[in-house]
Amino acid sequence: MSVQIDVDPIRCEAHGLCAELLPERITLDEWGYPLIDPTPIPASLEALARRTINACPTLALRLRAAASGNGGGDGAGPPRPSRTRTAG
Ligand code: SF4
Repeated sequence: MSVQIDVDPIRCEAHGLCAELLPERITLDEWGYPLIDPTPIPASLEALARRTINACPTLALRLRAAASGNGGGDGAGPPRPSRTRTAG
C-alpha cells in the first residue's frame, strides 16, 4: 500500500524544513508554507518521508494511506431487482 504526506495547516509555522528534506514531494509557497505533491510516495522515498515528518518542529506532517483512485467502492454496485415476467 502506498502512502501520501498530509500537512496540518493549523500546526504548520512555515519553517520550511520539510521542503529542504523532501524536495521530491514538498515545495514552499510564497509565504514559506509547504505545497505537498499528492502523488503517492514510492517505497524508495518512504524512509526519507518518515524522517521529514519526524523532523517537523511543530509535528504538522503525517503519513496516510494513499487514495486508491477508484472511489473506494468494490465496483459491484447495488443489487438489481430481478424482473419477473407475467404470463399473459
Ligand atoms: S517543517 Fe513543519 S512547520 Fe515547517 S513548513 Fe514544513 S510542515 Fe510547516
